[in-house]
Amino acid sequence: MNKIDFKLVMESVIKDYLNAPTEELIMNVTVSRWEHHEWAVVGFEKILEERSLSYDIYTENFFKKKFVEKFSRLYPGWTNDIRKMMTELIENGWNLSIPLTAKDYHGRFECFISSNDIILQQIVESNCELMSLKCSRCGFSDDEYIFDGVCQKCR
Ligand SMILES: [Zn+2]
Repeated sequence: MNKIDFKLVMESVIKDYLNAPTEELIMNVTVSRWEHHEWAVVGFEKILEERSLSYDIYTENFFKKKFVEKFSRLYPGWTNDIRKMMTELIENGWNLSIPLTAKDYHGRFECFISSNDIILQQIVESNCELMSLKCSRCGFSDDEYIFDGVCQKCR
């Protein structure tokens, strides 16, 4: 995409999101930033600049906080595992320049990290594996009864 087109689509994003809640915009430029086009992220960032936040949203720990917040709302049973995964990633050198996305896939927590670092990849894999054995709602762990990420009791 050339510069003029980039500017045009970015400006249309600014127009569309001018009144969006600050929390939503923050999510869009942190945890969800790799789910959006680059021009959309630039647009969200420009709106946020105007709102002059009093805290830094571009730190690894802030990302972790929002990541845990986003996914523990959806999957309360996995909150501790999600927090543990983020802590381990940061301790082992993950930073904001390394794309990290996650989603639910038929009751499994699927996480993708764009890095060739074996340690970081293993942290993601082992934690996702752990979560696949637990109920996403209550955290109950007994793989016999977990179906689509939900235990018998919570179904
Ligand atoms: Zn359950």
